[in-house]
Amino acid sequence: MAFPTASTTLSDDRRTVADATPGFMPADEADALHRVADHYLSQRDSVGVGVEIGTYCGKSTVYLGDAAERHGALVVTVDHHRGSEEHQPGWEYHDTSLVDSHAGLLDTAARFRRTMFDAKLESTVLGFLAPSAAAALVWGKPADFVFIDGGHSMQAAQTDYDGWSPWVRTGGALLIHDVFPDPADGGRPPYEIYRQALDSGLFTEVDAYGSLRVLVRA
Ligand code: SAH
Ligand code: MG
Repeated sequence: MAFPTASTTLSDDRRTVADATPGFMPADEADALHRVADHYLSQRDSVGVGVEIGTYCGKSTVYLGDAAERHGALVVTVDHHRGSEEHQPGWEYHDTSLVDSHAGLLDTAARFRRTMFDAKLESTVLGFLAPSAAAALVWGKPADFVFIDGGHSMQAAQTDYDGWSPWVRTGGALLIHDVFPDPADGGRPPYEIYRQALDSGLFTEVDAYGSLRVLVRA
């Protein structure tokens, strides 16, 4: 393992908040994510920034925000908060408690806000409520890391990769979640963009934890 484990765990209070938050980030991968974020945000003197694509209710964001807070850095987390395909009514991961009755659509924004309030991270984590492609259009700053954990359709994954991987600073990291080399384990699009990143020659894989891949930009 390339990243230190000592002194980088969450407080019990924050872990309790993360554990109580609906989402899709297993605890061991979340701890790895935390260590990696801590590492890449610790490398510069100016204010660091990490980007997450795919907030949902902010489960993974608690870990990223905790790492950022240690370094006076910020995390921007991008989501339209309408859910991915698999969160829609009739799909496997639909959660009826997250439907906004006014719009009749999934709405994870308020639940995300509650998570950040409970975790005391409202000044460290900046929610960016927008489609990934639109958010990428107005972004304009190198990031210490970009963590792609958004939609799993090929179009969504491609959009995230095309829009956000160019913003990883030299020596920074591109993190991709739900990378399954064996199609029997899960859908392909995150794996496909992981392959594109490697094949581009711009990124080198430095670590893997479960379905999380860590690629450094040369
Ligand atoms: N990181 C979260 C899980 C994210 S689930 C956790 O730890 O639990 C994927 C999220 O990506 C969903 O909330 C969905 O709304 C968002 N998403 C999917 N496609 C998107 C798009 N094109 N633009 C913005 N957000 C998108
Ligand atoms: Mg995921």
